[in-house]
Amino acid sequence: MQRVGLIGYPVAHSLSPAFQQAAFDALRLPVRYELWPTPPEALAARIAALRHPTFLGANVTVPHKVAALSYVDVASARAQRAGAVNTIVRQEDGRLFGENTDVPGFLASLYEVGIEPADVRVAVLGAGGAARGVLVALAEAGCRSVVVANRTLARAQALTSELGGQAVPLDERLADVLMSTDLLVNATSVGWDGASAPLDLTLLAALPTHATVYDLTYRDTLLLQAARSRGLRAIDGLGMLVHQGAASFRLWTGQEPPLAVMWAAAKAARDARG
Ligand code: NAP
Repeated sequence: MQRVGLIGYPVAHSLSPAFQQAAFDALRLPVRYELWPTPPEALAARIAALRHPTFLGANVTVPHKVAALSYVDVASARAQRAGAVNTIVRQEDGRLFGENTDVPGFLASLYEVGIEPADVRVAVLGAGGAARGVLVALAEAGCRSVVVANRTLARAQALTSELGGQAVPLDERLADVLMSTDLLVNATSVGWDGASAPLDLTLLAALPTHATVYDLTYRDTLLLQAARSRGLRAIDGLGMLVHQGAASFRLWTGQEPPLAVMWAAAKAARDARG
């Protein structure tokens, strides 16, 4: 039995074990997906242990994605651009390869719902790690235009000066931007409580009627509810989660991930969690 797992702190809430194990089982691969809660002081040793042949690799989540970059032996150009590793693959020679599958995972989730990123004007809320991954993805895909709105404007400015796009404050001045936005992405950490929203929801009235609102939070949020009540298309973050996991699976196993199985298991695990 080979092992792969999730490195983070905490990790107990994660949906990854449910849909990754379902994928390994569907392909009859003798692999166990485990949860590896890892406090910061234990991260270096946890990653170093992956060199043992029993391990295929790992996923890495909050708060270790940035630090993991410095503990792998080689990181992809994409992981370096994103400044973060969410997937570690043990290579045959025992060296550890770091990749960022959040980036293609985000793009795959757009393609899956028929959005071609090269054709859309995007507004991203937030300037943290997730927003950075989204910006790297949009740049890879040749997105038409990107505006980053963040509570702390300086962080949005730093991000856009490095990765392209325009920085604006996250307040009522966003209305002008939203008038010419096709895709609004919430990449802030606001919304998990089901009671708060990253922006004044009346601002959604500025979006064109064909616009899509995409919340990286993988549950229904006030933002998505408000978008739907305006007749806008609303997408939650489960697709990105499943697709980043599918890309990780492909790297660990060299096999095509069973996407339908992963989707079904992820939805069931989310529903069970409530
Ligand atoms: P992060 O690095 O901590 O960044 C948090 C962002 O949220 C910052 O831009 C911060 O603004 C903003 N923010 C926090 N509190 C706010 C408030 N009260 N009002 C307005 N803005 C606020 O977090 P992250 O790693 O980027 O993660 C962001 C979200 O993306 C999380 O909910 C995470 O679960 C989700 N995510 C989903 C996926 C997926 O697969 N679906 C993948 C990755 C991440 P300041 O700069 O002003 O502090």
